[in-house]
Amino acid sequence: MVNDTSIMWHGLSENDSESISGVVSDTGLSDTEVLERQKLHGANMLTQKKGTPAILMFLLQFHQPLIYILNIAGIITAFLGEWVDSSVIFGVVLINATIGFLQEYKARKAIESLSKSMTSEATVIRGGKKQRVKATELTLGDIVVLQSGDKVPADIRLVRVRELQIDESALTGESVPTQKQTALVPKETILVERSNIAYSSTLVTYGTGVGIVIAIGNSTEIGHINQMIAAVDVLETPLTKQISRFSAWLLYVILGLAAITFVVGILRGETWLDMFMAAVALSIGAIPEGLPAALTITLALGVSKMAKRNAVIRKLPAVETLGSVTVICSDKTGTLTQNQMTVQNIVAGTQDYQVSGVGYSPNGKIMCNGEAVDVAANAALNECLVAGFLCNDSNLISSENQWRIEGDPTEGALITSAKKAGFSRGELTKKLPRIDTIPFESQYQYMATLHNNYAPNQSVVYLKGSVESVSQRCTTTMNIKGELTNFDPIDCSEKAGQLALNGLRVLAFARVVVPSDARAITHQTVSNGLTFLGIQAMIDPPRNEAIEAVKSCKNAGISVKMITGDHELTALAIAQKIGIVAESNNSGTALVLNGKAITVISDADLVMHAASTSVFARVAPEDKLRLVKALQAGGQSVAITGDGVNDAPALRQANIGIAMGITGTDVAKETADMVLTDDNFATIEAAVEEGRSVYENLIKFITWTLPTNFGEGLVILVAIIAGTTLPILPVQILWINMTAAVFLGLVLAFEPMEQGIMKRMPRAAKQPILTGTLIFRICLVGILLCVGSFGFFQWALSNGKSQEVARTIAVNIFVMGELLYLFNCRSLQRSFFKVGIFSNPIFWAGVGIMIGLQVAFTHVPFMNIAFQSQPISLIDWALCVGVGIVIYAIVEIEKSVSNRLFSLTKKNVETK
Ligand code: ADP
Ligand code: MG
Repeated sequence: MVNDTSIMWHGLSENDSESISGVVSDTGLSDTEVLERQKLHGANMLTQKKGTPAILMFLLQFHQPLIYILNIAGIITAFLGEWVDSSVIFGVVLINATIGFLQEYKARKAIESLSKSMTSEATVIRGGKKQRVKATELTLGDIVVLQSGDKVPADIRLVRVRELQIDESALTGESVPTQKQTALVPKETILVERSNIAYSSTLVTYGTGVGIVIAIGNSTEIGHINQMIAAVDVLETPLTKQISRFSAWLLYVILGLAAITFVVGILRGETWLDMFMAAVALSIGAIPEGLPAALTITLALGVSKMAKRNAVIRKLPAVETLGSVTVICSDKTGTLTQNQMTVQNIVAGTQDYQVSGVGYSPNGKIMCNGEAVDVAANAALNECLVAGFLCNDSNLISSENQWRIEGDPTEGALITSAKKAGFSRGELTKKLPRIDTIPFESQYQYMATLHNNYAPNQSVVYLKGSVESVSQRCTTTMNIKGELTNFDPIDCSEKAGQLALNGLRVLAFARVVVPSDARAITHQTVSNGLTFLGIQAMIDPPRNEAIEAVKSCKNAGISVKMITGDHELTALAIAQKIGIVAESNNSGTALVLNGKAITVISDADLVMHAASTSVFARVAPEDKLRLVKALQAGGQSVAITGDGVNDAPALRQANIGIAMGITGTDVAKETADMVLTDDNFATIEAAVEEGRSVYENLIKFITWTLPTNFGEGLVILVAIIAGTTLPILPVQILWINMTAAVFLGLVLAFEPMEQGIMKRMPRAAKQPILTGTLIFRICLVGILLCVGSFGFFQWALSNGKSQEVARTIAVNIFVMGELLYLFNCRSLQRSFFKVGIFSNPIFWAGVGIMIGLQVAFTHVPFMNIAFQSQPISLIDWALCVGVGIVIYAIVEIEKSVSNRLFSLTKKNVETK
C-alpha cells in the first residue's frame, strides 16, 4: 500500500497517512522494517540525468571549424589523387578527435566525481530515536524531521509543522517560499498548492516540520520531471568563454587571409592546387585548435588539486575567480576557531564560579574561590546549569574514552558543564519532559524550550542565547537562595563584557514559569518578564593553522575580515589572537563594527566602513549581504563564508561564496561556489593559492601556444608574398600542432605552484588575459620562429639541399624553437633555473617524447613518406637546436628587462 502511487496523500488526513504507511509518528520504523522496506523499494536516489553520452561527445569533436576545413582539404586532396596527404589529413582528424575526446572525458569525470562526493543527510525518527542518516537510505514510511536550511530528502506528507516555509523553486521555478501546513487539502489540488506536502529537493527556508516519507527516488515529483540540477554541469568559465570568442573572431580573420592568399596567388599565376594547399596550411597553422581542450584540462586539474586540499568546487568559474580574490570574509566560530567549546566561567546569583577540566569530558568541578561547590545549595547556579542541559538539542557521546559532540559544540559545552555538576539528562528529562521548542536561529540569537511538571499546575520555559537577547527579556534575577530580585541589565552586560574580553563565548540563561496547560511557545511567550539565571562563558581556542593562513593572506595582498554573530569583545579578542587585527592597537571596540551600527549606516557610508573595519560582530545574516555589496562597490573581489539558510543571499552575491561542509546547511552548500569539507579557514587560503596557480598555468599555456600559431601563419604569408614555395606543408603543420600541443603544451598544466605565488598582489578582476608584456613576448617569439624557419629554409635551398630536406629543417626549427620556449614558459617572470630544473618531472617526460617523435619524423622512412620529410645531417640538427637556444636566450633577456622595468611595482608588493 505504501508504494501505491495512486494514493493521493495530500487528500488524506495526517492520521490516515500514518495508518496507511504503517507507522506511528512518535516512534517511526523499526530497524528491521527499515531493512525490509529498503530491500523492497530500493535506495532514495534519482537516476542520474545522463550527461552527453560518450559517443556524442566524440562526434562533437568533429564539429569544429578547423575540422571542417581539414575535412574539405582531405576530400579535395583525395580528389586530386594526393593519397598520402589525404590519408594523413584524415588520420590527423581522427587522432585529434580522439585526444580531444579523451581529455574532455577525463575532465568531465573528474568534476562529476566531485559533485557525487557531496552526499546529503536527513534527520529521521526510527525506533523512537532521532538520528542522522544518509538521504539515500531513507525509505517509504520513514519519519523525517525538517529544519530550516535542510534540503527536503524525499516527498513527505507533513504531520507537524512550526512556521514551516519551503522554497520550491527547484520544482516549480517559483522562488518565493511557500507556507506549509498539515491539514488535508482537496484531492484535486494541483501540485504547487498541496501545502501539506514537502517535495524532494526543495529547500526549507524557515521553521521546522515533521512528516512521513511518501515517495522516494524516481517516484518523487522531482524524479518525475527528472530535473535534478547537476552540481557542475558546464565546463565553462569567463576565461574559456573569452577564449572561444577570441577563437571565433580569429577564425574569420584567418579565413579572410586564406581567401586573399588564394586569390593573390592565382592572379599571380600560381597553380590552383598550390594556392589551395597554401590556404589550408595558413588556416591549420594559425588556428590555436589545442587551446580550448588545454584550458579545460588545466581547470579540471585545478579542481582536483583543490579537492585534495579539502576545497570542493561546485561551480567551475570559481577555480578562476579564486585567484583574483582581494577580501576574505570569514565566520569566526569553527572556521577561525576550533569549535571545541569548554565552559570555563559561570556567573549566577552574583557569584563567580570557575569550571575545571578540559574538552568535552565531564571530568571536572565547579569551583568558587578555589573550592568545589555544592551546586544543589545554590539555586541560581543550579537553574542555570539545568537550563543549559534541557534547552539543548545536542548529545554528548563517549566512545573509546573519547568524548564527542553530536550537534552544536556550543550546546555540547553546556552538557559537559552540567554533567560536571552531577546532573543526569535521563533523570532531568523524566522529571521535566519537553513539550515544545523554539529552535535556535541566528537572527533571534536564542533558543527556548517548554517543559511541564515544573510544579503543581506549572510548566517552565528555559531560554538560552546571547547576553543581549536574553537580558532584554528579563525583569527579575535569581539569587543564591532562589529568591527573585530586580534585574540590572547594565551590571549583567558588564560581567559579560569582562568575560568576552578574554575571548570567551558568552551565553546567558533565563526562565519563565507558565500555566501547566500551555502546549506551545512562541516568540511572544518569551518576549518579557523572564527571570535571569546566569551566564556561562566558554573558551573556543583559535585554530593554529588559521593564524598562519591569515598571515599568508596578508602577504598576498588579501585582507581578512571576521564576520560573526558573536559578542563584539569575544570577536575582537579572537581576531587579535589570530592576527586579523594588531594586538598592540588595543583601542577597544573602535576596531569592531557592531551589527546594530551596521543597520543604521547608509549603503553609501557602509562602503567606507566595510573597507576600513576588520571585525564585524553581532551581525545579522541580512547585513552580511549588505557588507558584501559594500565591499564590491569599493572595487573588491569578495569571498565570504556562510553556513545558515539566511547566508544564502550573501553567498550568491559574493564573487566566491563558501559553504561549510560540516556545519553548513544544505541550502548554503547548494548556493555556494565552493564547499570546505573541513570548515577550516586555512583551506580557503589553500584554495586561493591553487586558484592563482591554475590561472597562472592557463596564462602560461596561452603564452606558449600562441607564438606557434602566429609564426606558422606568418611563414605561409611571407612565402606567398615573396612568391616562394611553402617552407612547411599543411600536413607538416598539422604534425607540429598536434604533437607539440599534447606533449609540450599540456605539461604546463602540471606545472607545480610557483614559489612566492602568495607574495604577490591579487590579479585585478578586470585585468585582460594577456598583459602588454606577454603580448609583446608572443609577437617576438612568433616572429623569431618565422624568421628562423623561413630564413634557414631559404638558406638550405640555396646551399643545394633538396626541398624535402629544407622543409624538414624548417619543421625542426619550429619544434625546437617551441621546445626551448617551453623552458621560458615554465614561469612568466622568473628564469627556468629559478623555477627548479627538476620540479616538474612531467615536463622532462614531455620534452623527451617530443625529441623522440621529432627524430622519428626526420629519420624513420615511413614517416618520411607520410610527411614528405627527409633525414637531415647532424650539423643541421645542431642548427635547429641552436635556433631554439637563441630564442630561449632572447626571451630570458626580454623577461629580465621587463622584470626590471616593473620591479618598482613589485617591490611595493613585497613590502606591503
Ligand atoms: P557565530 O557562529 O558567528 O558565533 P551565531 O549566529 O551562531 O554566531 O551565534 C550568535 C550568538 O547566539 C552567539 O554568540 C551565542 O550567544 C548565541 N548562540 C549560539 N548558538 C546558540 C544556541 N545553540 N542556542 C542559543 N544561543 C546560541
Ligand atoms: Mg554559529
